[in-house]
Amino acid sequence: NPSSSAELARLLVAAGPVDAAAVVAGMRVGFDSGRTRRLEWRLGQLSALRTLLTEQTDALLEALRSDLGKGPAEAYRTEVGFTLNELDHTVRHLEEWLQPEPAAVPDAFLPAEARVVREPLGVVLVIAPWNYPLQLALAPLVGALAAGNAVVVKPSELAPATSALIARLLPRYLDPQAVAVVEGAVEETTALLEQRFDHIFYTGNGAVGRIVMAAAAKHLTPVTLELGGKSPVVVDEDADLAVTAERLARGKFLNAGQTCVAPDYVLAIGTAAAALEPHLAAAVHALAGDDPAANPEYGRIVNTRHFDRLTALLGDGRTVTGGGHDRADRYIAPTVLADVSPDAPVMQSEIFGPVLPVIPVPDLDAAIAFINDRDKPLALYAFTESADTKRRLTEETSSGALVFGLPVSHLAVPELPFGGVGESGMGNYHGRYSIATFSHAKAVLDKPLR
Ligand code: NAD
Repeated sequence: NPSSSAELARLLVAAGPVDAAAVVAGMRVGFDSGRTRRLEWRLGQLSALRTLLTEQTDALLEALRSDLGKGPAEAYRTEVGFTLNELDHTVRHLEEWLQPEPAAVPDAFLPAEARVVREPLGVVLVIAPWNYPLQLALAPLVGALAAGNAVVVKPSELAPATSALIARLLPRYLDPQAVAVVEGAVEETTALLEQRFDHIFYTGNGAVGRIVMAAAAKHLTPVTLELGGKSPVVVDEDADLAVTAERLARGKFLNAGQTCVAPDYVLAIGTAAAALEPHLAAAVHALAGDDPAANPEYGRIVNTRHFDRLTALLGDGRTVTGGGHDRADRYIAPTVLADVSPDAPVMQSEIFGPVLPVIPVPDLDAAIAFINDRDKPLALYAFTESADTKRRLTEETSSGALVFGLPVSHLAVPELPFGGVGESGMGNYHGRYSIATFSHAKAVLDKPLR
């Protein structure tokens, strides 16, 4: 048994390949020492993470460019800046969120007092994906630290530069007794999942989500699964189609479409289908320019496996705009497809790339039936002026989030829970919801003896 996790880390470096059991044992020593429970420690860690993000911005942006071709403005906004906002919001409210919540006591027990106390869980595992490799490793870390836990972070091996940087920087800025990074792919993650954690927070695809949940079940460890799937967009006939197309394009082609809450496909009602086409073509042009390949803010596909998967979908409809691609550069132009059949391959699973199919539907009933026939989406978007359409979508469909008028934006509202339902995941986080996720709501009842 190591006496401190820092000592353990030194031993591990000497020993070579990471020993998952030893890392987790080290974090448990850190948690059991009680250090993570103190509010000052939590705020101190968040402040150190803030320093990391501000001092190392250039290195982080360079890693994101190297992994995903992310331009600096987009990378700052969606990764570094996003995490800073989440962190600042948490620091501002943490003390208030941690206050015990008084609970009413039935008359029969009086005099007595009852309250709910937010207790740290222990050692948390955060498994992150490659598409927002910084944000999706660090935003859960913010919540886990704020709630008073020791944390093991496993970044995605498919974003190797960002993973390596996280592994190098976190131990330099944060308390190595209570925060560890384990890099690696299936083998290393499998070894980690054999250990007992007090919570596992996984972001990625549903197939691996099932593996994570099965591994967690062995130790009765609770999980949060932030998964994906197809997020539909309903476009009503009454919507301003120029505004709709501009906002759709911005949400869809962010990170070259590799966003878990990207608009996946459009259900265009009645006349909106044909009318939307020229607006989408114009919006893509305004966003990405004459040659998106030469636009420094337009991203690349993460690897050739995903590139090949995506280019195979480009023939699944009539090309409204885009279609160009270059395998050597892993570039796929922002593409809009019309006249897409619901049976086409592009409609069978999450696209996760810069291809936007438009499917005509006769009316709102058909759009709602189309959505409800499929897995519950992570996000459902709609462009409409009709209060009745908004009400019906709210009451008659189920999704992780429902957003009118601005796809992807809900993610950046820290007072909203972020998470899925059904196939799009379980549990949620961000802001106060992260505290709920990474802590136990302990019931305390105090009845005087007199
Ligand atoms: P990925 O391939 O990076 O995998 C995610 C993590 O799982 C990685 O850390 C990886 O090492 C680990 N992993 C992979 N195979 C494993 C195995 N067999 N056993 C244990 N761990 C394993 O990322 P991905 O899954 O391709 O991510 C894309 C998916 O994630 C999409 O479906 C997307 O919608 C979803 N996503 C969801 C959110 C959200 O917040 N809800 C955010 C981003 C991405």
